[in-house]
This record gives sequence, C-alpha cells and structure tokens, in this order.
Amino acid sequence: MIDSQDMVDKANLPMTKELEIIHSQILACTKCELHEGRKNAVPGEGPADAKIVFLGEGPGQNEDEQGKPFVGAAGKLLTELLESIGLSRSDVFITNIVKCRPPSNRAPRKFEIEACNPYLKEQIRLVNPRIVCALGTPAITTLLGEEYSATKAHGKAIAKDNLMVLPLYHPAAALYDASLKEVLASDFRTLNKLLEETSSLPHNAEREKEGKLRETLERWV
Ligand code: URA
Ligand code: SF4
Repeated sequence: MIDSQDMVDKANLPMTKELEIIHSQILACTKCELHEGRKNAVPGEGPADAKIVFLGEGPGQNEDEQGKPFVGAAGKLLTELLESIGLSRSDVFITNIVKCRPPSNRAPRKFEIEACNPYLKEQIRLVNPRIVCALGTPAITTLLGEEYSATKAHGKAIAKDNLMVLPLYHPAAALYDASLKEVLASDFRTLNKLLEETSSLPHNAEREKEGKLRETLERWV
C-alpha cells in the first residue's frame, strides 16, 4: 500500500533510489502465486538512465537461483548480440514481464502478468529509455496488445503511448531454431540504427527539467 506520505518522500529521492525501492518491493511481493515457488525474485538490473530496456518473459531456473535476469544460455546470446553492436550488458536495463519464475518454466498467465505489470510500468517510467526491446511474443503483447507477435512484428519499431517499442524474437527461440539467430542479429543492427537516429532527442535529465518526465509519468496512471 502506498500512502501519500510515501509519494512525497519518493518524489525527493534520486531516481536510482526510487528504482531501489521498487526492487525491494518486488523482492517482498506476494501479489500472485508465482511467489510461492521462487527462490529469488528477479527485479532486473542495469543503469537507471539506460537508453535501452530489454524486456523478457520471466526468470528461468538460473535466474531464479541467482536473482538476476538473463544469466543462462539465452542471456549469453543476448550478451553476444549486444556486443555485436558495440554495447555491453552494463549499458542496458534488463527485466521481465513477471519477476518470479513460473513453475517448470511454463508461460506466465494473464493474471500473473497483470499483477506484476505495475512494477514494469514504474521501471520504464523511471529509466525512461529511448527504446524498449520486447523479447518474444509475451513481452511484445504486454507492451503493444494481443494483435502483435514476434513473427509478425519483429524488427519494426512501433510508437505507443510515447514509448518506442522494438519487437524482437526471444534469444531462447534462436537457440531452438538457428535460422532465427541471423534474423535477431539483423534486428539488432536495426536497433543500432534506431539508437543513432534518436541520439539527438533530449534524455532523462533534460526531459525532467522540461517537465516531460511528469508527462511520461501521467501516461501510465
Ligand atoms: N528468459 C527470459 O525471458 N528472461 C530471463 O530472465 C531469462 C531467460
Ligand atoms: Fe509479485 Fe510479480 Fe512475483 Fe507475482 S511475479 S509475486 S506480482 S513480483
């Protein structure tokens, strides 16, 4: 429960502190039944002013054990893809649509995604990235709506509610189907171009000064 006193206090904290608060709320969260089977909740990680957010589906076994996102085989491929366009993991913010591991790696259910969504919205609001890369259909539909899928929408950026979303195949899909690896690599080159094109846009600090961050906040509530 967030009361108005909390809101006032939070408004005076730097963004990293605000993110930390959300992450500690996630660690203690019992809003859906996924908390029952977790070893560790996985809030996500990365710089609070990252230009790119990567959004996956949910923690797997390795992530659940370590409390960190994308640390298994799919994470290794994600790291390689980032390096292929001159970025490192520490440049980007990485999280998932649900922060706790679904049992036996089943897909997260609609009400679990909905229960967890306020955390994601807060993370995106605070990081305020230029681009959110949605990895795989569950992340894509969470941000853009049910009519989208990785197969139909990958590699084409879509603007939605002031957010630039780039749908991508999930790296795990490319581990199962090698032909998708080249598609992903090519879509990462598109991401690189998009970053160059958006590099003249004002970023966090400037936007905040202009009150744009407040506008961004309001689009979520
Ligand atoms: N797959 C995901 O979608 N997220 C992770 O954190 C790891 C693997
Ligand atoms: Fe809470 Fe999200 Fe974990 Fe569900 S998945 S218990 S909503 S943090």
